[in-house]
Amino acid sequence: MQSYKELSKEELLQKKIQLEEEYKKVMSENISLDMSRGKPGADQLDISMEMMDVLKSTDNLVCEQGVDCRNYGILDGIKEAKKLLADMSEVPVDNMIIFGNSSLNIMFDTVSRSVTHGVMGSKPWCKLDKVKFLCPVPGYDRHFSISEYFGIEMVNVPMTVTGPDMDMVEKLVKEDDSIKGIWCVPKYSNPQGITYSDETVRRFARLQPAAKDFRIYWDNAYGVHHLYEDDQDYLIEILEECKKAGNPDMVYKFCSTSKISFPGSGLAAIATSEPNLEEIRKHMTIQTIGHDKLNQLRHVLFYKDFDGMIDHMKKHAEILRPKFEMVLTILERELGGTGLGEWISPKGGYFISFDSMEGCAKEIIKKCKEAGVVMTPAGATYPYGKDPHDSNIRIAPTFPNLSELKKATELFALCVKLVGVNQLLE
Ligand code: PLP
Repeated sequence: MQSYKELSKEELLQKKIQLEEEYKKVMSENISLDMSRGKPGADQLDISMEMMDVLKSTDNLVCEQGVDCRNYGILDGIKEAKKLLADMSEVPVDNMIIFGNSSLNIMFDTVSRSVTHGVMGSKPWCKLDKVKFLCPVPGYDRHFSISEYFGIEMVNVPMTVTGPDMDMVEKLVKEDDSIKGIWCVPKYSNPQGITYSDETVRRFARLQPAAKDFRIYWDNAYGVHHLYEDDQDYLIEILEECKKAGNPDMVYKFCSTSKISFPGSGLAAIATSEPNLEEIRKHMTIQTIGHDKLNQLRHVLFYKDFDGMIDHMKKHAEILRPKFEMVLTILERELGGTGLGEWISPKGGYFISFDSMEGCAKEIIKKCKEAGVVMTPAGATYPYGKDPHDSNIRIAPTFPNLSELKKATELFALCVKLVGVNQLLE
C-alpha cells in the first residue's frame, strides 16, 4: 500500500471523506466491544476445569512432606508444587518459595518490605531522600503503579528489539545509588512481546550497581506462553547467569500460573538466592501461617509435572493463535505500508503493541471508544500514564471471540487511518 505520507493534499482530503463515511457507518451499528483486557477467554478457562475434580473428599490430602494439606503447616510451599514451578522457572527447587495466588502481590510485598525494612541490612528505603526504579518502556502499568504508590521515582528506559537499552541501564545503575530496581518482563514482554537476547540477559547479570541493595525485578509472567510450538523465543536463565557473574543476590524472579490455570486462583512464586530467600521467609513468618496448600496440591495433581504443563500450554496456544493471527492480518491488510503505524508480531505472550504516528494515540483511542470499542487507555504503558510520544497502544486480543475481534480490529485500523489523515492534513 502507498504511504499516506506521500499523498498530495487533494488525495488526503479524498481519503478523509471516504474514511469519515466508513466511520459513520460503523457508528450506526452500535457495537460494544472490549480490546483492553489482558485476560484469557472463557474457552481458555474451560481447559482447566478438570482441576476442580482432582481433589475428592475421600482423598488422603497429605503432601510429600507428610503434612495434611487441609491444616496449617509449611510456610513456603509444598515440595511437589515447588518442583513444578521450579521446573517451569528453570531454577533449582531450593531457590523457590510458593506464595498465594498472585505474582503481582509478591512484587508489591517485595517493594513494601524494602521500603519498611531495607534489603539485606541496608537502610530502609523510607529513610532515604530519593529512591528510583528504571522502567523499560513501553511496559506493564501495574509495575509502574507499585512504584508510584510507594513514591518511587520512575526513570524511562527505551525498549529495543533485544530488550531494554542496556548501555543506558549499565550507565545509570553504576552512577546513581538511588536506583534500587528495574522492572523487567523478559519473555514475550507486556506489551511488545519482545524476548530479551542472551547478550541482554548476560549484561543484566554483569551489572555493577552503585547501590548494593539494587535488585532486578524479573517478572517472567509469560515464560511458557508460546503461540507456536516450532517457532519459540528462548530466554537464558537469569539466576544462573547472576551467580556466574558474581552477583548471586541481584535478582528476584517472579512467576505465576495465572494465565496457565486460572487468573486469580493460580499459584505464584518467587525464585532467588538463598540469602534473599532467608530474608523473605523471616518476613513471611510474620505475615502468614501459610498459603493455600490445597490449591498447590490441586495444581500438582492436575499437571502432574512440567511436561503436563507444556501440553496444557499447547491447548492455550491453539485457542490464541487464530486470534493473534487475525489481528496481525487485519493490521497488515489495512495499515501495511501506510506509514501510519508500526507493530511487532509476537511469538507468545498476551499482547500486540502498536505504535501510531507521534501525537495520535489518545485520539485513536477516543475515536475507537466513540464507535463502541474500548482499548487500553493511551499512556497506560508508560510510568505516570504519560507516553512522551503519545504513540503506543496496547492491543489485547485474548478475551474477545474471533468475530468480535475482527470487528474491533477493523474499527481500530479505521480510526488509525482517520486520525492519521487528519494529522497529515494539519
Ligand atoms: N506480570 C505481568 C507482566 C502481567 O502482564 C500480569 C498480568 O497481566 C501480571 C504480572 C499479573 O500476574 P498475577 O496474576 O500473577 O498477579
